Amino acid sequence: MESRSEQTAPLIAVARHRLMVDGQGVTTLVAFHGCTLHCQYCLNVECLKPEGLWRTVAPDELLDEVMIDNLYFLATGGGVTFGGGEPAIRSGFIDAFCRMAPSEWHFTIETALNVDRQHLERLLPHIHEYYIDIKDINPDIYRRYTGQDNSRVLDNLQWLLSHDGMADRIIVRLPHIPDFNTDEDVQHSRDYLSSLGVTRFDEFTYQRKNQTT
Ligand code: SF4
Repeated sequence: MESRSEQTAPLIAVARHRLMVDGQGVTTLVAFHGCTLHCQYCLNVECLKPEGLWRTVAPDELLDEVMIDNLYFLATGGGVTFGGGEPAIRSGFIDAFCRMAPSEWHFTIETALNVDRQHLERLLPHIHEYYIDIKDINPDIYRRYTGQDNSRVLDNLQWLLSHDGMADRIIVRLPHIPDFNTDEDVQHSRDYLSSLGVTRFDEFTYQRKNQTT
């Protein structure tokens, strides 16, 4: 069993009273510092920079704070959304947090899935809904955009989908990425992911780094 200090996690933000933005009902977003990728148009660049670290917390400390919205969560079917950064690499912390939290809370994770399988195994008993930012399934586009290989992402996605009822709990985010993929590339990703059993997609367009709108 990990000690309390080993279970602490670095945060960049905690945002309360989010309504139907990143999970059902009223949610509190817990955003972790650190990521396995380095996306060209990362919207949360503070998660990649040492100076972006806001504070480090223990699971029980965070629970005490988040508990203030317990009645909102219970009334709306909401709960906590884990984001970042890459929250899945904080699976030990999330496991400890969810074990202590009220069982009625709804837990959502926003992940790029480019993590070791052991993290997903630890999260599986707790997470109700997965928002998966797949980037692009073409490995060349993915590498150019994130700096990493995507074979682990597709393996992890297939592993998740192998669990009963999981397709209803997964929303795959399919970005149109200016200068990196085309509409045809996005359609190719969508077709391939549909063939794996993905049914829920969120297609949108990333902003370039130097764009302000
Ligand atoms: S996966 Fe998300 S948090 Fe990580 S670098 Fe890419 S956009 Fe940023």
